[in-house]
Amino acid sequence: MITTYGLTKSFGQHEVLKGIDLHVDNSEIVVLLGPSGSGKSTLLRSLNGLEEITAGGFEVNGIRVDAGLPTRARAKLIRDIRRQTGMVFQQFNLYPHMTVLGNVIEGLLTVKKMRKDEAVAIGEQLLERVGLKDKSDAYPSRLSGGQQQRAGIARALAMGPKVMLFDEPTSALDPELVGEVLLVMQELAREGMTMLVVTHEMKFARNVANRAVFMADGVIVEEGSPDRFFDDPQQERTKRFLRQIN
Ligand code: ADP
Ligand code: MG
Repeated sequence: MITTYGLTKSFGQHEVLKGIDLHVDNSEIVVLLGPSGSGKSTLLRSLNGLEEITAGGFEVNGIRVDAGLPTRARAKLIRDIRRQTGMVFQQFNLYPHMTVLGNVIEGLLTVKKMRKDEAVAIGEQLLERVGLKDKSDAYPSRLSGGQQQRAGIARALAMGPKVMLFDEPTSALDPELVGEVLLVMQELAREGMTMLVVTHEMKFARNVANRAVFMADGVIVEEGSPDRFFDDPQQERTKRFLRQIN
């Protein structure tokens, strides 16, 4: 579902991603771990075209983007990729002037040009799935952070993505609200969604992921099954990281 080929990204002189080769299979849950500043967000943003890569390339569901494409060719490929990927960030980014349901169906109405009643039916189903059926008419400001993030997930799912990219979806939440969001993600994983998840939630990484990928300073240092990664890390850099978070 996702493959990167020596994906490289620089900001000016600063090479932030130094040739990343990553692969995520269909229905696989991969967690991306690593210290702050290692390039995790930049990698996710590159896959969604929010950053323009400097060298190498990547492929999402068969759509391949290489560095150095002409602007218009790239723009078309990125548009196609965005139709198939849902992205959830640390910040909830809901429209404050729209109800929860309004937020969820916005893309269906404006991008997919769906009829309102059809969109509402899909939106209500999704809100039920993330446990927010009774909040459909509420405005985001009346919701807890956990509820807002679940609404954000429902909004991303409304577009029918083939893959979901999560960038620290629970990092802005009060500790007692983290669980409800992870539960929704776990359910999504169980249903077979392909997911690439940047997280500091090591329990989620161990229990839900099929594979852990550890990045530091713009390179993949180590990857493996979560059990092996946590119980028997091979690289010194990985061991240091695991010591620091425990
Ligand atoms: P992580 O998500 O792993 O914490 P990031 O991908 O956010 O790491 O950042 C990796 C490096 O890239 C950091 O050194 C950061 O300062 C730098 N960086 C990220 N975005 C930009 C930007 N827009 N301009 C310049 N430097 C950036
Ligand atoms: Mg980040």
